[in-house]
Amino acid sequence: MKRIYMDHSATTPTDPQVVDAMLPYFTEMFGNSSSLHSFGREAAEALSTARQQVAECIGALPEEIIFTSGGTESDNMALRGIVPYDSGKKHIITSVIEHPAVLNTCAFLESMGHEVTYVPVNTDGVVDIDKLEVSIRDNTVLISIMHANNEVGTIQPIREIAGIAKKNGVYFHTDAVQSVGKIPVNVDELGVDMLSISSHKIHGPKGAGALYVRKGTVIRPIVFGGNHEKGMRSGTENIPGIVGFGRAMTLAKQRLDEDSARMQQMRDSLISRVFDSISHVRLNGHPTQRLPNNVNLSFKYAEGESMLMLLDIKGIAVSTGSACSSKSLKASHVLSSLNIEDDYLHGSLRISLGRENTMEEIDYLVEVLQETILKLRAMSPLSGQ
Ligand SMILES: *Cc1c(COP(=O)(O)O)cnc(C)c1O
Repeated sequence: MKRIYMDHSATTPTDPQVVDAMLPYFTEMFGNSSSLHSFGREAAEALSTARQQVAECIGALPEEIIFTSGGTESDNMALRGIVPYDSGKKHIITSVIEHPAVLNTCAFLESMGHEVTYVPVNTDGVVDIDKLEVSIRDNTVLISIMHANNEVGTIQPIREIAGIAKKNGVYFHTDAVQSVGKIPVNVDELGVDMLSISSHKIHGPKGAGALYVRKGTVIRPIVFGGNHEKGMRSGTENIPGIVGFGRAMTLAKQRLDEDSARMQQMRDSLISRVFDSISHVRLNGHPTQRLPNNVNLSFKYAEGESMLMLLDIKGIAVSTGSACSSKSLKASHVLSSLNIEDDYLHGSLRISLGRENTMEEIDYLVEVLQETILKLRAMSPLSGQ
């Protein structure tokens, strides 16, 4: 059976061009970039090229890029790195719909005695800017709001929030892991001080990523050792991974207009056909301010994990916003904060498209979805059908 992958917000296949770029760095050019001999110099050169590639793609300077192991570490570095160790209780503002890499880091900082405000979102998943602004205090050191949400795809008004942060003398970080490669990401246009990127979400290898840190933004390292990355992130660099990440960034930038137009076309076709052919369905997230590759639907009288499993049997890989444990159904923290009617909360599917998906695959998905929903509703005691 042909398998169809539509879970690109979870991870993406590595582009063959990226793999080609990486391969020599496992074998002939395996050097440690800190070594002074020719092997080391090759690695150092590869590192420098990748740094330029990543910087250029987001309008940054190479020296503003710190390579990390991915989005999670970048988020940790931004939040834990900006809070001084020694000068009392600090305050961070974030949103209720952030990725666990931000939320759990905030929980850790709270356990260390710092304070965090979690700003709510409206029913479309857009951060409440008025509430955000009034929550700024004298000891606020950072506002961290994600560029685009990984579950419902809502794009936040980052420029506006960054402006508020700047006006109040507070640093601003954005998790751009989902937005890079799908919408334009430029650090000056967004007005951000720090920005997280992950390689494996943009057809690069897993285990690589970066934190952009604007010149003049003082953060402290969270990993100590041999002073790699100018002391900001010690540890022998993952050269093949970083080379692949640099190549993936360049490819994503080159293909951005074409890829996002194609994905958006498939997205909109999928949404309109589902609404035309299936009753009791809602679209989660903002109707227009959303990622071109994200479709998050909720179906009444159908449970998320059952739909996921039935689609998987038909070779289609998607994800759901509710996890079915033995007794209780727990909806994701993102869906729960959108104020969705209870009836719709547990029947959600996230379909995240990628550059290799086709309109024929959308046709097949719509067909399978119709059958699946009919089947589940026929078994549901609530549906009355
Ligand atoms: C996937 C993801 C991360 C984590 O990135 P990793 O590279 O897997 O650590 C962080 N934030 C968002 C929004 C993500 O989608």
